[in-house]
Amino acid sequence: MSPHLGFALELIQADVLARHHRILGENVFFLTGTDEHGRKVAEAAGKIGKSPARFSSEIATQFKALTKILNLSNNNFIRTTDKKRHWPVVKKVWLGLKKKGDICKKKYRGLYCVGCEAFITKKDLINGKCVIHQKEPERIEEENYFFRLSKYAKKIEKSIKNNEIKIIPGSRKNEMLSFIRQGLEDVSFSRPRKDLKWGISVPDDDSHTIYCWADALTNYLSGAPGRWPADIHCIGKDIQKFHCLIWPGMLLSLGLKLPRIIFVHGFITVVGQKMSKSLGNVIDPFELVKKYGVDAVRYFLLREIPSTEDGDFTYEKFEARYNSDLAKGLGNLVARVITMVIKSKSVETRYQQTKGNRLFISFVKKTQNKYKKFVENFKFNEALISIWDLISFCDKYIEKERPWEEKENQKEVISNLLFSLSEIAKLLQPFLPETSEKIYQQLKNKKSEPLFPRI
Ligand SMILES: [Zn+2]
Repeated sequence: MSPHLGFALELIQADVLARHHRILGENVFFLTGTDEHGRKVAEAAGKIGKSPARFSSEIATQFKALTKILNLSNNNFIRTTDKKRHWPVVKKVWLGLKKKGDICKKKYRGLYCVGCEAFITKKDLINGKCVIHQKEPERIEEENYFFRLSKYAKKIEKSIKNNEIKIIPGSRKNEMLSFIRQGLEDVSFSRPRKDLKWGISVPDDDSHTIYCWADALTNYLSGAPGRWPADIHCIGKDIQKFHCLIWPGMLLSLGLKLPRIIFVHGFITVVGQKMSKSLGNVIDPFELVKKYGVDAVRYFLLREIPSTEDGDFTYEKFEARYNSDLAKGLGNLVARVITMVIKSKSVETRYQQTKGNRLFISFVKKTQNKYKKFVENFKFNEALISIWDLISFCDKYIEKERPWEEKENQKEVISNLLFSLSEIAKLLQPFLPETSEKIYQQLKNKKSEPLFPRI
């Protein structure tokens, strides 16, 4: 249950959005955290002879360490085991749903997937196995509290259809709409305490534990007090049903606003296969950052994995991207320009707006516009491609103008390149914050140090 590369991808994508919108002057609150209750955690702890409390604490420590090592700008980290901040909100939400008459007790017989931590239906099975977890579900018969999700089906459908909740990408939106059209059933919102001890008990009924999704989704309220509604939920496709259907249902029942955007990212495969412990192909983000540096990892994930689709990791692809785009492309351009500045002592090397070279200025403008559009449409890879187009534009410009020769326009050419470097640094800020800062420092100190040594 240690954080793997897929979770790193999600955090980095969310960080880009948070940093981008902060640069635009918006008051951003970036929340992440750990969902620690449920049978999956309790069973995993039991297997290695630990208490669920200790086990989930250790996991939370690792996830917190991951936010540090990935240089994330999150404002808070909420744990669902936080009895002071999280539990009271969960209980309040439960009582709010109950007051609306949306919690009712029912006998239930059905299929349960521990991996999903959810009752699933035959629709979710292929060859009798959960599509996501490749496991046969358990047959369970018990009395549970249910949330009357069916009551809100029409409203949820409408708000997804008219983009009141905008689900990105559109293919996921259609998937959710067709799921609703097949009929939304009420969902089990508790499990008997005897079967699930690791969780928050139902208010007024100790014999039941609140279903882990009803508990976990509430983190968006408890972890960012006074901040609801969320502008963006950044999630994986395995949990989209909970976010796109159950969560809006809860919010509608409570009379709260709906989230504005639900952005669903894909999964990372490793050499074409799903990452799994049994295959022994799990990529540890800590090791990757230690070996290549944080910005190389951020760059690879954002550039190579299409933001809303699945993408593949291999060390060969990683090193190829590193060498061609970071060491050669970006690193080389910065080194070349700074060296030119150092050598050309005779010319004014601060950026000055000149009338010449309209082509240059217009290319930078075009890049800025494309970039903004791409980031705001969650197309992180395309935004990076637009920055790298500017990098190659600069390379070609250098070849053409040969600014190392003492020519009449030398001053202007170097000035244009300095301008573009500071633009590149600015555009890189949300994506590669450390590298962006290094470029600014090199521009300021007129000192060249390799940003990404070749490997
Ligand atoms: Zn499952």
